[in-house]
Order: sequence, then structure tokens, then C-alpha cells
Amino acid sequence: RAKNQGRNRYAFYTRDLTANAHQRMEMENDMRRGLERGEFTLYYQPKFDLHAQQLNGMEALVRWQHPQRGMVEPDQFIPLAEETGLIVELGKHILELACLQLAEWRTQHLAPPRMAINVSGMQLIGNKLVSDIRRALETHDIPASLLELEITEDFVMNQNREAIHLLDIFSKMGIHLSIDDFGTGYSSLAYLKEMPLDTLKIDRSFVSGLPENHHDAAISQTIIVLAHNLGMSVVAEGVENAAQQALLTEQGCDTVQGYHISPPLPAEEFSQRFLQRAPSQRPSQPV
Ligand code: C2E
Ligand code: MG
Ligand code: MG
Ligand code: MG
Repeated sequence: RAKNQGRNRYAFYTRDLTANAHQRMEMENDMRRGLERGEFTLYYQPKFDLHAQQLNGMEALVRWQHPQRGMVEPDQFIPLAEETGLIVELGKHILELACLQLAEWRTQHLAPPRMAINVSGMQLIGNKLVSDIRRALETHDIPASLLELEITEDFVMNQNREAIHLLDIFSKMGIHLSIDDFGTGYSSLAYLKEMPLDTLKIDRSFVSGLPENHHDAAISQTIIVLAHNLGMSVVAEGVENAAQQALLTEQGCDTVQGYHISPPLPAEEFSQRFLQRAPSQRPSQPV
């Protein structure tokens, strides 16, 4: 697998080694250069609606096409980008790339479903993201309802006024809000009643043990019931096989995402496989 190869070959970029100040600086400069040279690109992973049996969204996942190191995965540079603050600039670029891609597909009459982008806590400090998103949507003539933000529990846990205010703004704009990796943060559940959230994403660490592991099954079932009782929908991430999907369907899960449907794909491959025709004419996807 290219993914594993990448992990080994570019061990330079692992978390332990980034502790070395010199290497961190080198990589930070490298990232800045990469931003200027347009080395960052997005892959897209479909989200599959279990009720309607069709695509209902996609997630944009960043990749770094490094001239020497090849394709670098986000786990190897997002943590440092967050530590150094470069994530703010990188995040803005990712937003721009995502909107550009949506616009291109719309121009081609491909009717893309909602696009989710991952947002780091640091991007949510201050009101900068609001104006960036407003501008990006306007520039590319994209309705806010086509955009989804995946945020982590760490950001919402403090329940501070500013965080609630910011999410209220996004929500009122019509942007879909999801909690990513739900269940893995260090937060209480209290924030769930304060925030205008639409979706919980069950972390893949709870999905990987399905269907055999009874504890994982209890957790996924509980998250599904919790979300539904609070008026939210549920996405299970990291669904890798039919047995996992079958159990999640039985448990009432709304949407699945994972290698069983498709890994993240480059734009061209994604559109060929999933966006060929308008939704009304598309036969249901084989699962
Ligand atoms: P995430 O948002 O939870 O994204 C899901 C990750 O799980 C992705 O890894 C995806 O490729 C992987 N995945 C999807 N289906 C399966 C599956 O069936 N099995 C397994 N084992 N893995 C699966 P990826 O692309 O390496 O991204 C890792 C993390 O990096 C993301 O986790 C997200 O937290 C972060 N990330 C990715 N793109 C961005 C971005 O544009 N901005 C920010 N701030 N963070 C990003
Ligand atoms: Mg995500
Ligand atoms: Mg996730
Ligand atoms: Mg994750």
C-alpha cells in the first residue's frame, strides 16, 4: 500500500522527531514553500446514506505532494502546522481548494453533494474563519448548505461563549456542523445541548471492533441513540467491511464512510466514480 510506504519512507515527519527543533524549523519552512508552490491537494472520500442508499456527502482530506518526499499524509504535518500556527494559512488554502473544486463540478453540472472540510481548533479563534468562508462561498458562488465543517470535541468542550457564538453564526448561515472523532476527546457531554450541531461522527476506533466486539457495539449503539434523541444524525467513520456496515445499519446509523465504500480519491477519480450523473438519474451505488 502506498500509504504504508509513505509512512516508512517519510519517518522524518513523525511526531517524535518533530521534537527536534532544527527539523521542526526545516519542516515548517518546507510547508511554507509548499503552500507558495501549490503542493497541497485534496482527496475526497464519499459519505454513503444508509437510508437513501446513495451518496449524501464527501469529506475533503488534505495531502502534501512533496517534490522529494512524495505524497505526505496529514498525520505527518497537521500536528506541526497546528503547533506553529501555520494551520491558519493552510486551512484557508484548503477552504479555497474545496470551494474551487465544488465550483468546477457545478460548472460541469455534476451536482456534487455537501463537502466537509476539517477545521482545527486554532482556525476557530477569533472571527477570521467567518469572513474567509463568506468570501470563499461568494467568490465561487456556492450555497452555504453545500459546506460542512468537521470540528473536534477539544474545541467545543470549554463551552465558552465565543465558541458557541461562532458556531451559531455558521449554523445560521446554513453551514452543516459535525463533531469529528466523537467519543475520543476529553470532554463532557454538556456541550451537546449548547451547540447548534447537526451530526456526530463515530470515531473509527469504535468501528474497527465491529461486529464482534460487544463493547464497541454498545458504544456505537449508544452514540446513535444519543445523537437521534438530540435531533442529530450520525456518521460512522472507518467502515471497512460489509459486516460492520450491516451492524451499523441494524443499529440505525444514518451514514457510513470508509474503505468499504471507497478510500479518499483524487478529484478526477472521485467525480468519475461518484458524480457521473445528476443524483436523480444515477442508479443506486453497489455496496
Ligand atoms: P479524520 O478527519 O478523522 O479523517 C478520517 C481519516 O480516516 C482519514 O485519514 C481517512 O483517510 C481515514 N479513513 C477513511 N476511511 C477509513 C477506513 O475505512 N479505515 C481506516 N483505517 N482509515 C480510514 P487521513 O486522510 O490520513 O487524515 C487523518 C486526519 O488528518 C483526519 O482525520 C483529520 O483529523 C486530519 N486532516 C485531514 N485533512 C485535514 C484538513 O484539511 N485540515 C485539518 N485541519 N485536518 C485535516
Ligand atoms: Mg474529519
Ligand atoms: Mg474522524
Ligand atoms: Mg481522525
